[in-house]
Amino acid sequence: MKQRPSFPARLDVTLAKNRPSPHGAPLAGQTTVAKAPVFGGLQGAKPAPLAAVPHGVGMDSSAVRLRMVQKLAAQGVTDPQVLMAMGTVERHRFVDSALVNQAYEDTSLPIGLGQTISKPGVVSRMAELLRNGQTGKLGRVLEIGTGCGYQAAVLSLLASEVYSIERLRGLHDKARENLRHLRLSNLHLLFGDGMAGYAKGAPYAAIIAAAGGEAVPQAWVDQLAMGGRLVAPVVAAGAPGGTQALLVLDKTPQGIRQTLLEAVHFVPLKSGVA
Ligand code: SAH
Repeated sequence: MKQRPSFPARLDVTLAKNRPSPHGAPLAGQTTVAKAPVFGGLQGAKPAPLAAVPHGVGMDSSAVRLRMVQKLAAQGVTDPQVLMAMGTVERHRFVDSALVNQAYEDTSLPIGLGQTISKPGVVSRMAELLRNGQTGKLGRVLEIGTGCGYQAAVLSLLASEVYSIERLRGLHDKARENLRHLRLSNLHLLFGDGMAGYAKGAPYAAIIAAAGGEAVPQAWVDQLAMGGRLVAPVVAAGAPGGTQALLVLDKTPQGIRQTLLEAVHFVPLKSGVA
């Protein structure tokens, strides 16, 4: 008999240092598993092979998720909190049943209405940039583009409060449904145009966009706390074919500091609701 794992499931990740990173970060961590999580009802069950596809829930999915976390660490994600969150949230619950066997591959997947769930590699990269190496939790976070709610769930484990806005009613409802069983009391789902941010929750320690526009709306910069950081895909000026790059914007007492990082591919940021 299979039982659902409790949430958040515990995952013990130990980091070994001194591994070169493909991102060029100083040192990347290698993840080794100290102890695999054991869920009630599955104790004594034959462990699933690591390559198994996640059939529903249970031990299978935790093993496959762990493999995903190990790959993320090998790609250069070093923040233990981020790796922990990625190992905890069950991505397969956020995609259609026909796509469940791809849920832990590093690929974006369709979530309906022409939108996609971001690749785990991108979600963890952006979360790591948002956290910026701090040891404690982030304060209030604003996410633009809830989509299926996956990244919002990851963020809720890394922040004190998360406000997540979606402009498509169908996806806002889907995210609510996907997230219901997790009962994340610090996650607030909002339906509306995220271009205007969400002033009621401001100021934010961090703002993250899951959709790329020509520029960062002024409202987001205004709603960012002093010392806060914004991470968003933006269409790189003059780039052919609307190529996007990841922008990191820091609000400092000396002014706004902006850094353009690697190329990314996100759905477009649109105005209005539908
Ligand atoms: N973080 C999401 C990714 C969803 S894709 C996940 O984990 O699934 C990006 C989402 O941004 C889409 O659902 C799209 O509808 C939404 N979006 C685009 N422009 C927006 C806007 N102005 N306000 C709110 N959401 C927006």
